[in-house]
Amino acid sequence: MASPAASETPYAAAVRLGCSIEQLGYCARCQGYCHRYGQGGGPLCPPCWEIVEQARKRG
Ligand SMILES: [Zn+2]
Repeated sequence: MASPAASETPYAAAVRLGCSIEQLGYCARCQGYCHRYGQGGGPLCPPCWEIVEQARKRG
């Protein structure tokens, strides 16, 4: 049962993602929190990166 990350606090999301609160942004795919800004950041959260990578491998 995957629950949406909407109820997660920014602090909890930052801890989970291993970044600071200022580096948090919203994932372009699922609108959950992701490490969006700064070093190591990107527009997608880790689960969405995984999905995109899988899709890319399948071509
Ligand atoms: Zn996502």
